[in-house]
Amino acid sequence: RAGTKKELPDHFKAYRHVWVAVEIEHGQVHSVSFELLGEGRKLADKRGVELGAVVMGDDRAALDAAAAQCFEYGADVVYVVEDPALAHYRNETSTSVLTHLVETYKPEILLLGATNLGRDLAGAVATTLRTGLTADCTELAIDEEGSLAATRPTFGGSLLCTIFTLNFRPQMATVRPRVMPMPARQEGRTGRIVEYAPAIVEADIVTKVLDFLADRDSDKANLPYADIVVAGGLGLRSAENFQLVRKLAEVLGAEYGGSRPLVQKGWITADRQIGQTGKTIRPRLYIAAGISGAIQHRVGVEGADVIVAINTDPAAPIFEFAHLGIVADAVTLLPALTEALAAR
Ligand code: FAD
Repeated sequence: RAGTKKELPDHFKAYRHVWVAVEIEHGQVHSVSFELLGEGRKLADKRGVELGAVVMGDDRAALDAAAAQCFEYGADVVYVVEDPALAHYRNETSTSVLTHLVETYKPEILLLGATNLGRDLAGAVATTLRTGLTADCTELAIDEEGSLAATRPTFGGSLLCTIFTLNFRPQMATVRPRVMPMPARQEGRTGRIVEYAPAIVEADIVTKVLDFLADRDSDKANLPYADIVVAGGLGLRSAENFQLVRKLAEVLGAEYGGSRPLVQKGWITADRQIGQTGKTIRPRLYIAAGISGAIQHRVGVEGADVIVAINTDPAAPIFEFAHLGIVADAVTLLPALTEALAAR
């Protein structure tokens, strides 16, 4: 907390409620938005306020479906914004809509996913509203004075800092997918809908979406949402040996990934890096072969239900948080494991 806590200015009192700006891609709500609704619900209950969700788009059916899901994941109010100009995400249109809604309804806290879209939108909205934004948070809480305490890693991950937006409203934060747990869905739960028709003039928008090109990378990783993840580290010693990780992943129907040095060595692509500066994962099963378990790796995998570590060094830090530890040479064990599982 920089400086001493000041008395909150009177006009801050108009700001109430917790909001989540919901991300919709190809008509589907991004899971990070549900994770944020779960977290937002806790913050709203602590503050004794409502939880709001903002959904934007051009497709009425998709918006209605998204609103229904938001209620089931904890929202009390859903602000539905329908306009043909919102068919595809564009920074200017979404920023202007969200900014207008915030200025009208004055939420005290506004949360977005730290996805490509969420990062793009959150920065622009915070700048337009001239408020603070804490990006890539790992923990959100309400402090004893009622402010949002947004915690994120700093100094290259060697420290965690808790940031308070003392002088501006709303208090904004982004959170990466899978950092927060998925809340339980309460089927049939409903709430209030607030409609907002922004009347955007297409001719005034500088950015035009001409076409969408499908991502042709068939090898694209989906680590954050994988059920099983097999990963390798420097202990595997070579890119050839890393293929043993891929083979085991294939047999298990799992995603594969690795520690940061493997990206630096070019053994894996950056979207497969697991850890603080890579992906956060929450699989049912995580198998780590030849990974030491440095803190920057650990923070990305701690949410896994079961962690199995294979390491030659019984004193490796990964054994401190693995559920099952195997002291063995991964280069020998991985093929044997793959063969045994393939035979089942
Ligand atoms: P090492 O630490 O070298 O460990 C190799 C392990 O393999 C050892 O424990 C060894 O006992 C074991 N081993 C050796 N031979 C075998 C064998 N034959 N069979 C089985 N085990 C064997 N790291 C990440 O992973 N993700 C991040 O997002 C990340 N972000 C970072 C951000 C910052 C700012 C910094 C400073 C660092 C970051 N790091 C990150 C790096 C991190 O600190 C570690 O250096 C890295 O995780 C170590 O990778 P490793 O475990 O593969 O290698």
